[in-house]
Amino acid sequence: MIREPLIFEISGKGKRAFSLPALDVPEKQEIFKNLPLRSEIKGFPEVSEVEIVRHFTRLSRTNYCVDEGFYPLGSCTMKYNPKINEKIASILEFTCTHPYAPFDLVQGNLEVLKTTEELLAEITGMDAFSLQPAAGAQGELLGMMLIRACLEERGNPREIVLIPDSAHGTNPSSAHICGYRVQEIKSNEEGTIEVEDLAEHMTEDVAALMITNPNTLGVFEVDIKKVAEIVHSKGGFIYMDGANLNALVGVSRPGDMDVDVIHLNLHKTFSTPHGGGGPGSGPVGVKRELDPYLPVPVIGKNQNEYVLDFDQPKSVGRVHSFFGNFLVVVKALSYILSLGSRGLKEVAEVAVLNSNYIRKSLEKDYHLKYTTPTFHECVFSDKFQKEHGVHNIDIAKRLIDYGVHPPTMSFPLIVQGALMTEPTETESKRDLDLFIDAMKQIAKEAKEDPEVLKSAPHTSYVRRMDETTAARNPVLKWDGGHKIEE
Ligand SMILES: *Cc1c(COP(=O)(O)O)cnc(C)c1O
Repeated sequence: MIREPLIFEISGKGKRAFSLPALDVPEKQEIFKNLPLRSEIKGFPEVSEVEIVRHFTRLSRTNYCVDEGFYPLGSCTMKYNPKINEKIASILEFTCTHPYAPFDLVQGNLEVLKTTEELLAEITGMDAFSLQPAAGAQGELLGMMLIRACLEERGNPREIVLIPDSAHGTNPSSAHICGYRVQEIKSNEEGTIEVEDLAEHMTEDVAALMITNPNTLGVFEVDIKKVAEIVHSKGGFIYMDGANLNALVGVSRPGDMDVDVIHLNLHKTFSTPHGGGGPGSGPVGVKRELDPYLPVPVIGKNQNEYVLDFDQPKSVGRVHSFFGNFLVVVKALSYILSLGSRGLKEVAEVAVLNSNYIRKSLEKDYHLKYTTPTFHECVFSDKFQKEHGVHNIDIAKRLIDYGVHPPTMSFPLIVQGALMTEPTETESKRDLDLFIDAMKQIAKEAKEDPEVLKSAPHTSYVRRMDETTAARNPVLKWDGGHKIEE
């Protein structure tokens, strides 16, 4: 593999990316006199057009993306998102709307927002939605703020939030940021919440249970109704982390499971590519009781006109400027309408089928701490491979050589050496089989040639990184002298 040099290293004095004929009229320098022109930058690279094009094309190919291949990163739902949704979101009337435009001029945009709120409410069985949060974790925080506001009005915000040990890692931090103390609830052998442990912890000091469903093991919380009854009987709320709704969408509804608050990740389930820190959206849905606390402005309808309602005295206020990430909502609406209810149901059916296909195909090669049938993802561990000195990181790095993005590693914490694998609904049987074959091959290598795993990847642009030094001592600026090592 040839290392791509820095563009500064390709630079050669006097090289230009264009050539123009010599000037055949008098030069008029004064035209430029009052323009804010940039002065010379010392050391600015000088390269030809073809050098620029090749440099950046080669760099772009060093990245891995879902348009290139299988990306089974657990809990992240790195699925393929149809390009039509991008096309709809790039319609000029959407991209050029000014956020301060008077609402009578942006009725179409308000209709997009209101319709999406209503469809999400129908899909989840909740009563109302806010589209403001820009991410799942911000949705969690808003959800907890709504619970706190409601409890405060009842006279006591309470102190504790219960979270199962199989929950997503953002849940405890959201509860903590909202001023709650977190108590962990144990999982049982099936990988679901231990109902007796919950009942013991559930007191009148508990504001809510935050539950990820299906949880990070990919296991559906079958006792959710009983769990909700226990929590409700002591005046607490059920918060559901619905980031991975592709496991349920069109089949079952959290609202029917007595969930009081939920957040979704439009940038996972509803067709916005993510992973590079781009715009996201974490809408929050509530039951009637929490409706008055939702962020302002609420979009209402006055006869045939959409209006913005700021007059919500109990509202927790804004959590995002304007309406959140509007174009992510446009993509979600485009996705929901293009699939329809039958298509959405198929999303969940295929997501669950794909995950179970992988789990069953690999269960002899990789240890499964929990053998419960899974929904959208399954969690293997490196227990068998450890006998040969091979760890989950070696397996993950070796997968890169087979052209697959590694699964999520070392999470959830209740599975040691975890490899959390989420195929998503968009993968074909052929692609699933390529992954399964690669994983089987790696299991064989672990027994016969563990060294090849421990030094992997061998074919990628960069080899095994020193991740500690990269995090502790990052080199973020070119100082003019640094040369990339071979
Ligand atoms: C991704 C995810 C989150 C957090 O969402 P962000 O948009 O990354 O903040 C929360 N819970 C679960 C289960 C997730 O998969």
